[in-house]
Amino acid sequence: MCADRNGNPPRYRRILLKLSGEALAGERGRGLDPQILEVMCSEIAEVREAGVQLAVVVGAGNFFRGASGENLGISRVTGDHMGMLATVMNSLALADSLEKKGCPAAVMTSVEMKAFAEPYTIGTALSRLEQGSVVIAAGGTGHPFFTTDTAAGLRAVELGADIMLKATRVDGVYTGDPEKDPSAQKIENISYQRIIEEKLRVLDLTCVSLCMENSLPIMVFNLFEKGALVRAARGEKTGTIIS
Ligand code: UDP
Repeated sequence: MCADRNGNPPRYRRILLKLSGEALAGERGRGLDPQILEVMCSEIAEVREAGVQLAVVVGAGNFFRGASGENLGISRVTGDHMGMLATVMNSLALADSLEKKGCPAAVMTSVEMKAFAEPYTIGTALSRLEQGSVVIAAGGTGHPFFTTDTAAGLRAVELGADIMLKATRVDGVYTGDPEKDPSAQKIENISYQRIIEEKLRVLDLTCVSLCMENSLPIMVFNLFEKGALVRAARGEKTGTIIS
């Protein structure tokens, strides 16, 4: 296991990283940006090389969200199924990019599609993590009416992660939307309860309550800040801690 620059071992043994689909689209807003994939996978590979077990859940906002299907006359359940399938596309792209860097990655799907990826089970995911693969848990929870934030919280809890890292476009939780309101203040530490009571939209509230019930801390950090994921994995505070 590699030490950090001060000679300390990585603080976290196992981490769940939640990436939004939009993050993978970069400036394009839709689809996949190869440069973003490259940067993200380099950081993920670095975290793994430092001896931290890493499970990843990725969303699908860059391709399709179930709720938006209603505008196209597609029913919510079908739309959510399409959204979950889109997370598999992102997961396959991420795994491909990681493997090309020499970083072993296993895509595991909540809904069986054995020709593309292994079915997700807690036991198999844990053994892949122990073997040193990055586990990409695709297909959300496998159920409509949930989001990939909630899938990420669920995987984090059931895989015994020490923390869930939620990568966003901003560097933490703010009192308002920092992209719209210049007076919005960054909050360094915040309770699950306050996020729920104030309905702060930084992540899905079902996910927050699941993490609260299971005392799983969440760190919200800026995905586009160079080295932020590596620092967060070392236990350095780079964003807001929800606990
Ligand atoms: N989804 C679902 N169940 C889940 C996870 C995801 O039905 O357990 C569907 C839902 O339609 C959602 C879409 O997949 O809108 C993509 O996930 P999400 O919106 O969380 O992606 P992100 O915003 O993180 O890119």
